[in-house]
Amino acid sequence: MAKVLVVAEIKQGVLKSSTAELLSKAKAIGAEAAVVAIGSNIEGLVPELVKAGSDTQYIADDAGLELFSAGPYAACVVDAARQFGADLILFGFSESSKAAAPRVAAQLDAACASEITEVAADNGAFQVVRPAITNKVVQKVKVNTDKLVAVVRAGAFEADESIGGTENVVKLDIPAPDLKAVIKELVSDASGEIDLADADVVVSVGRGARNEEGIALVKELADDLNAGFGSSRAMVDAGFMPHNKQVGQTGKIVAPSLYIAVGISGAIQHLAGMSGSKVVLAINKDPEAPIFNIADYGIVGDLFEVVPILKEELKKVRS
Ligand SMILES: Cc1cc2nc3c(=O)[nH]c(=O)nc-3n(C[C@H](O)[C@H](O)[C@H](O)COP(=O)(O)OP(=O)(O)OC[C@H]3O[C@@H](n4cnc5c(N)ncnc54)[C@H](O)[C@@H]3O)c2cc1C
Repeated sequence: MAKVLVVAEIKQGVLKSSTAELLSKAKAIGAEAAVVAIGSNIEGLVPELVKAGSDTQYIADDAGLELFSAGPYAACVVDAARQFGADLILFGFSESSKAAAPRVAAQLDAACASEITEVAADNGAFQVVRPAITNKVVQKVKVNTDKLVAVVRAGAFEADESIGGTENVVKLDIPAPDLKAVIKELVSDASGEIDLADADVVVSVGRGARNEEGIALVKELADDLNAGFGSSRAMVDAGFMPHNKQVGQTGKIVAPSLYIAVGISGAIQHLAGMSGSKVVLAINKDPEAPIFNIADYGIVGDLFEVVPILKEELKKVRS
């Protein structure tokens, strides 16, 4: 039986949904599943880690691990992987994972695959699927090393809430701090808005909104839906939206249950960041806009007319 170690994603003490999704996938491929959790004051997360499907919980809990640092973080994952005898180590997609995963792979002499959307175990060999060239092709890769480290694209797998696990906590030794690169402070988005990566609904604004006034209108729709608020690159390049809101090839990759593209044409680089969304609604005044090729629902119309109507209808549904 394959052994899969999932690296828990924890942000400000909160366990992110990717952890349960990866553990569910591990169990779905018939593997024994363990989790490694790294941070400060995280022991209280053990019941959640068990509920998410892990049968062993490797915990590295230390004040020195409060801020992510690739070296010590990777050292903890490697330690857990060796103790567990992991064949496959799964990371959720994040900036931290992108920094830590290659380090873990190098130390374990394992292959490293990034942004995978599928993994299967076949007679002891792993096969992964990963979209490439802005989703124009899909690579099916057979891995010819015994071990694989993989970073999974957001929303690729679904959590199975019925699986559950068993509690078996193993405390890891705390690695020495990395003196080459010391992170002094983590500055989070001060807007208090929902993180795009975590949002179940994302509303994104494009050049069709024209200016601050148009953006404010679309933002109101996002707020009414309690949604994350994203942007096309056109609005970022024009200085209307910050880069951390950009969805796409050179921005964030999101896979919410519902993605609403407002005044966005649907350039391939934008689609690269949101085509994994479960349902896409596009609002665009041009019936030939490419976004309609991938949208599940489309409204052809002027967003300055359509968005207020949508807001009004939402209000009615809620009251
Ligand atoms: C290397 C590279 C990387 C890139 N990375 C990204 C990326 O990560 N993310 C990204 O988004 N882009 C990216 N781009 C840019 C991308 O190619 C497009 O230029 C960009 O996505 C266009 O943004 P847009 O759809 O908002 O604007 P446009 O393409 O100008 O589309 C605006 C749309 O709004 C519609 N519209 C206009 N007025 C209204 C109205 N009143 N009501 C309703 N609809 C209206 C128009 O019909 C049109 O379809 C990248 C490009 C390159 C070369």
